[in-house]
Amino acid sequence: MTESPEKKRKISHKIDYNALHLSSFVEQKHCDIKFECKDISGCPSIIGAHKMMLMSVSEVFETMFYGDAEGSSGVNNEIFVIQDITMETFKHFLGFIYGLDIQLKNAQNVSDFYYAAQKYACKDALLFVHEVAINSLCLNNCLVFYETASRHSDDTLKAACIQIFKVQINDLLSSSEFLKAAPETINSLFELDFPAVFSEIDFLWALERYIRHNDKTDSEIASKVRSALKQIRFLTLHENDIQATFLLTDEEKEALIKCLPDDANLSEMPEGFSVLCKKRQFRLYIVKADVQLFARMQEIHNRKTCSKCSFANNHTLWECSKVAGNKQQIKDIYEKYQHKDLTLYTHDDLEALYAAYKKTGLIN
Ligand SMILES: [Zn+2]
Repeated sequence: MTESPEKKRKISHKIDYNALHLSSFVEQKHCDIKFECKDISGCPSIIGAHKMMLMSVSEVFETMFYGDAEGSSGVNNEIFVIQDITMETFKHFLGFIYGLDIQLKNAQNVSDFYYAAQKYACKDALLFVHEVAINSLCLNNCLVFYETASRHSDDTLKAACIQIFKVQINDLLSSSEFLKAAPETINSLFELDFPAVFSEIDFLWALERYIRHNDKTDSEIASKVRSALKQIRFLTLHENDIQATFLLTDEEKEALIKCLPDDANLSEMPEGFSVLCKKRQFRLYIVKADVQLFARMQEIHNRKTCSKCSFANNHTLWECSKVAGNKQQIKDIYEKYQHKDLTLYTHDDLEALYAAYKKTGLIN
């Protein structure tokens, strides 16, 4: 008897547990645990899940469900009330655990998700949200992400935010996000050393706007950002600008004006104020300070294919036969940052890339 060809075919059917778990969650079937969170309008709302799924990604859930031996173990359909996470965020978080494709729409969503991931010590969720934050980092969200990164000790994200502050400080100071930042963030921001500032007075005016914006809701706001005020290099300003601000007392104004470089007697300097008389240098770093040059570099960088040739090519810059100079260096730098935004580059790498581009003749 000859075997039929069908028999030789490899049997490949398997149960797709991922799909089953996901559909059980989406359809809220066979749930053995429930959570109550408040929705956006503040009303309590309930969502079910499966202990096994949650425990497999987080020891915090394991302790919650089976923590004390005498306690909650084995009781089905218990309801855990969660006070500090909204239903929207908790749904995102559970959805991630079940393998749903999660879209965190704005910086607040990312920040809230970060909080949940940290609270339940879910490593995969933390890696996911860190990546989402890094990939979407821009001027409009860098302050919110900086605060998130500070809360959760995410140093890489924090450094990436600081990089944006430094490159785009002038835009940041005049943005509406600046007005919404926490006082501690403003203080840390003013402590940074900025290579490219159009004018010192921008810091003072930005701080004035910040205080005017926030003192309706917080009468203590001026004292909370006092440390930022003291970082302003008043000694590089004009007497009239010092006179005009409402952030200094008359005594402070008088003392600061007495210390202006012409007199150069710092003995009367009000306590804690910056004694720096040197203006921040605008053209210290070529690339970061030159907006047009930076934009041109971004253009070359963001185009995935060679900028030396016409648009219809599919080779990279370093593969191009027309490109001179150290092509490997360009490749190495791109790969170091995984081809992400130029604003994430360190000063040194940016200058190195600038030099490499120059050698290719793509920029002058
Ligand atoms: Zn080419």
